[in-house]
Amino acid sequence: MTKAFKVFDKTIREIQDIIVSVSIMGWDQRVNMPVKGAADRARQIGTISRLIHEKQTSQEMGQLLEDVEKEMESHDPDSYEAALIKKVRKQFDKKTKVPASLVADIAKSTSEANQQWIKARSESDFSIFEPILTKIIGLSKEYASCFAPYDHVYDVLLDDFEPGFKTIEVKRIFDELRKEQVELVQKISESPQVRDDFLYRTYDMQKQLEFGKHVIEKFGYDWSRGRQDEAPHPFQTTFGINDARITTRVDENFLNTAMFGTFHEAGHAIYELGVPKKLSGTPLGNGASNAFHESQSRLWENIVGRSYDFWVAFYPKLTDLFPEQLSDVDLDTFYKGINKVSPSLIRVEADEATYNLHIMLRMELEILLFEETLEVCDLPEIWNEKMREYLGVVPQGDDNGVLQDIHWSLGAFGYFPTYALGNVVSAQIWDMANNENPGLPDQIGKGEFDSLRAWLEDTLYTHGAKYEPVDLIKRVTGEAINTKPFINYLNEKFGRIYGL
Ligand code: ZN
Repeated sequence: MTKAFKVFDKTIREIQDIIVSVSIMGWDQRVNMPVKGAADRARQIGTISRLIHEKQTSQEMGQLLEDVEKEMESHDPDSYEAALIKKVRKQFDKKTKVPASLVADIAKSTSEANQQWIKARSESDFSIFEPILTKIIGLSKEYASCFAPYDHVYDVLLDDFEPGFKTIEVKRIFDELRKEQVELVQKISESPQVRDDFLYRTYDMQKQLEFGKHVIEKFGYDWSRGRQDEAPHPFQTTFGINDARITTRVDENFLNTAMFGTFHEAGHAIYELGVPKKLSGTPLGNGASNAFHESQSRLWENIVGRSYDFWVAFYPKLTDLFPEQLSDVDLDTFYKGINKVSPSLIRVEADEATYNLHIMLRMELEILLFEETLEVCDLPEIWNEKMREYLGVVPQGDDNGVLQDIHWSLGAFGYFPTYALGNVVSAQIWDMANNENPGLPDQIGKGEFDSLRAWLEDTLYTHGAKYEPVDLIKRVTGEAINTKPFINYLNEKFGRIYGL
């Protein structure tokens, strides 16, 4: 390690420590903080975030980058050094292109928007949210224009969440998924339905938590390197290589919420805990991107946690905990029940077959807004039209429709597609894992996950965030992003459940 790189590395690690302090404040805010602490906490997070931005965009940082870039040729392109320099250079260029006044305007408007969105949703009235949303979209367009020229304005927004992904590529992927998934959902709706009434019985909340903890411990979630708390909107957060925390929400009258929510967040945490120590404490020391992160949470939640093999291993434990509630439910009925497909209004409650359709709807509307072919005031109407077209259901009010998600109030345009891309990637990775370990389903049937986790660690987690997603998917699976494995997975699984 040269002298210049040592100084660069030390500076980057210091900034990362400050970033983690914001994550800790955020975790506390969402898990422990008394209601009235909100105003002070918002200011504290704002102050530290500004300090981080100043450090990341300082002249000193520009100089450090130039110094280490002079030596770039001495580093192997796959090395830690080369990856870190590339990562920080991209971040520096992006952040220095946006005027500080615009960053401040966006921060101010989005914090106002949150209140407006909450009010609009509680009154189910989009017109309350419309003026501030119009303003945020205007500011986001201004933000995007800082990066001109581009092929598509939406590329800029996507890049913040899924570096390197292009709008044209995501559109192609979604066109393939939409056709297949709309058809599958249609066929399912015409088939005899499965029962899931038993999921809505009364389930002791402590026992629900106990079951979730039991399962994720088997997945390999290490309690000496993590913890689980309750939070109204569950999330995962990482404070270091030995501290990746999860949160969950429990519903006494719906078994799925805590159970699959716990598997999901544990999937995120297992990814974070699997990143090599060397990358930790730097911008390379996390999962690679939103889509890759979702690929892991969904793999553990759905591909593993909603599989028949998995329940062969774990249904006895669940029935031990809830003998009365599940007395009339055999394994087969239970498996079908947790996989019931029913087109619904709310994205976060959607099943595996319909989930991506919710995402496509949002991305299409976002693109139309940024292409300026859709007026903000027309959003509720076009939302409802698309819901009818894709899912066959139409919301009665804006609260269950266009106002259901928080993302737009945060100015997070370009975020939604990463959820669906994560599903696609999860199936590609799962196929690859199975090709190389044909015994996986049998092991899962015995409640054993060590070889799956080890394979994921060796193949994916080991790279941390060294590569951009487009490159990483090729390194992991040997091919570009491909919808076929996910489409096959859905058709096979639901074909069997619904006898299609
Ligand atoms: Zn997630």
